[in-house]
Amino acid sequence: PTDRLAERPGAAVQLVGLHRSFGKVRALDGLSLDVAAGEFVALLGPSGCGKTTALRALAGLDELDSGRILVGGQDITRLSSNRRGMGMVFQAYSLFPTMTARDNVAYGLRLRGVGTRTRRRRAEELLELVGLASHAVHYPHQLSGGQQQRVALARALAVQPEVLLLDEPLSALDAKVRAQLRDEIRRIQLDVGITTLFVTHDQEEALAVADRVGVLHAGRLEQIARPGDLYDRPRTAFVAEFVGLSNPLRGRARSGELGLLGTRLPLLPGSAFEGPVRAFVRPESVTVDPVPDQDQGHGAPIGRVLSVSFLGSLCRVRIQLPDQDPVLAQIPKAEAARLSPGSPVRVTIRPVPVFAEPA
Ligand code: ATP
Repeated sequence: PTDRLAERPGAAVQLVGLHRSFGKVRALDGLSLDVAAGEFVALLGPSGCGKTTALRALAGLDELDSGRILVGGQDITRLSSNRRGMGMVFQAYSLFPTMTARDNVAYGLRLRGVGTRTRRRRAEELLELVGLASHAVHYPHQLSGGQQQRVALARALAVQPEVLLLDEPLSALDAKVRAQLRDEIRRIQLDVGITTLFVTHDQEEALAVADRVGVLHAGRLEQIARPGDLYDRPRTAFVAEFVGLSNPLRGRARSGELGLLGTRLPLLPGSAFEGPVRAFVRPESVTVDPVPDQDQGHGAPIGRVLSVSFLGSLCRVRIQLPDQDPVLAQIPKAEAARLSPGSPVRVTIRPVPVFAEPA
């Protein structure tokens, strides 16, 4: 290994039609995914969607029934785990308890026959990179959970892998440390330029750090997109409901437009069909105005407030409308102050493009 951290930039990763079953369970059901060199991709999905299976297959810790894995254009499907050039960090702290932080980081270098002095210098550089220069001779039990994961990250990077695999590395940490370390992982990843796959079931985490987020569902890639696009332009009902909050509402599509709650809205491309639909509307696209009790509401339907919950500067209001399931609106606190359970309200939808599917 050389001295500089960034001398081995990340390699592109391609997963091609991965299949893996455990008995009757199809953990991977044709998963395909292209990750560019140096890119940070989060794999997001509910429990059991195949995230860990995909990562373990990539690392060579588990076999595939079929499919191919390419790194830097080379087929590594049959290569053993230790020859794949990947670093891994898992959810559970996996440090060697009887070794200091520095020795943990240097472990992989020792296996590769790197001399003591180089090993030591490199381990110290990496501990500095993860902000733990002053903890080199601490043992894992003397470190907090967040610090242990920093050491695990330094250890994964020590052997200069081309690909970094992170499997829920933050899920055992409390919220504040989690957000801090998440941002730091991103900073380090950009610094080192390593191609990174980050498995999480936490959408906020995925959207906050990744170049692109791939949503997994039942062993397949449902959609992959930049965080903002995934949120604004979901292509399936699953993505619309899993990423952020969505109100599934009954409406009607006609000539590329959506009729919903007495207004017309643009439909997202791909929603080109006619007739009754289920449309997915974000809570922040729902506007709520109090109305005098007998007002008929100029075409917009009148609903009743079910509940108001405070989130800080924003409030969430649940509203019962005729012929719809309860609707969630997210509005400024000052507006919500005018509402209480039972209040009659006029509900309108902002004219942003929405995803809809045939009902
Ligand atoms: P989680 O977020 O809960 O870890 P995941 O998305 O990582 O979920 P996987 O761990 O990849 O999901 O599992 C996908 C499916 O395959 C699940 O239904 C799981 O029960 C099953 N599975 C995974 N590994 C095995 C195994 N070794 N033996 C039997 N079934 C397995």
